[in-house]
Amino acid sequence: MAAERLAAAGLRTVLIDEKLAWEKPCGGGVTWKAYHRYPFLQQAASHSVSATWLHADGTAPLRIDLEKPLLIFSRRELNQLLLDRAAAAGTALLANRVTGIDRDGPAWRITTRSGPAVTADFLVVATGARNPLRQVGTAWKAADSMVALGYYIPSAQAHIDLRFFAGLEGYIWVFPRNGHLSAGICGKQEAAAALRQRLEHYLSGCGICFKDARFYAHMLPSLAPGSWAENRLAGPGWLAVGDAAGLVDPVTGEGIYYAMRSGDLAGQLLAAGRPEEYAAAVRAEFVDDLAYAATLAQRVYLGRFCGGSNTTRLLQFVRRSRRVHGILQELFAGTISYRDLRTRIRGNFPSTLAEIAVNSFLRRMVTP
Ligand SMILES: Cc1cc2nc3c(=O)[nH]c(=O)nc-3n(C[C@H](O)[C@H](O)[C@H](O)COP(=O)(O)OP(=O)(O)OC[C@H]3O[C@@H](n4cnc5c(N)ncnc54)[C@H](O)[C@@H]3O)c2cc1C
Repeated sequence: MAAERLAAAGLRTVLIDEKLAWEKPCGGGVTWKAYHRYPFLQQAASHSVSATWLHADGTAPLRIDLEKPLLIFSRRELNQLLLDRAAAAGTALLANRVTGIDRDGPAWRITTRSGPAVTADFLVVATGARNPLRQVGTAWKAADSMVALGYYIPSAQAHIDLRFFAGLEGYIWVFPRNGHLSAGICGKQEAAAALRQRLEHYLSGCGICFKDARFYAHMLPSLAPGSWAENRLAGPGWLAVGDAAGLVDPVTGEGIYYAMRSGDLAGQLLAAGRPEEYAAAVRAEFVDDLAYAATLAQRVYLGRFCGGSNTTRLLQFVRRSRRVHGILQELFAGTISYRDLRTRIRGNFPSTLAEIAVNSFLRRMVTP
């Protein structure tokens, strides 16, 4: 996104990526918020899914039909799409590994695994969650990430599954894609082996065979509440975007939109000669809300309400309240900020409880 913007503005732009288009470990789910802002995504998507089954401990599975469906991409296809757009705008693509960056006066000297060094006036750092360039981008602490792992399973289904567990800050997803399922789990403060066991147990229970499926594991940024304020988004001669800047929703794990949007803003502001405005622009547009979401994540996944886990209660409330169902639809679409969510829940709490109570009563009356 950044390279496309910069090249389109007439700046000499080189994009260096060791793998270019590849099947990056990822669910590939893209929300309405992303394809509404970037409609070219909708034209390119091979899969759009509405039917979603939610599962949690101690309550029946709940089906919701997303009013604004989720697009599901193979990451190889999504990466190729974005690279093609950057190249068409005039970006030079270089398949190589960056091994070092050094300040050379006002410029940068970028050394690569093979071939001559590249010099540049400015650096947009988009090296993902495992950013090897430690002097730029997020300065990671152990509490700022979660493990995400899963399988690409040669199978098919028409719906999405999401499974929540009491006591796990994370969840399982099963996304149908072109020709396979992307099934994975993300979780904070739980060992990878334990997460893998949860996932395999779940898949076996669903009759999904993962025996010969390709396994993947990666890191997902999940900045702790205290880390957002000091997060390194920019410095002299560089801006960081996407996972390298820690820009992932701590509640849902959504990162594709924030990577694209931060790249877009970085490209626009750099092309306009105002890179110093980048950090404030992303903070105002979404970082402050993601920082607030970080304070919510633990409560959402680990909290309890009326003797049950919050995720179980959420499913029960969605079943019984049109208001809560509406809010969940907005969360899936990405059309409500976490701060607005708080205001809405507080404002509607008494009437929502009344709605739930009435619906529970009616349900008991009609259920034999
Ligand atoms: C298992 C898993 C599931 C996920 N599911 C979803 C989902 O369904 N929806 C969603 O919105 N988000 C999801 N995410 C998050 C999403 O994948 C990331 O937020 C997003 O890919 C970030 O994009 P990025 O461009 O910043 O980084 P990346 O996509 O990681 O890209 C970084 C690029 O940098 C290159 N690179 C790194 N180091 C070097 C180097 N030294 N030299 C040259 N090149 C280098 C890599 O080759 C790579 O292509 C998921 C993440 C994981 C781990």
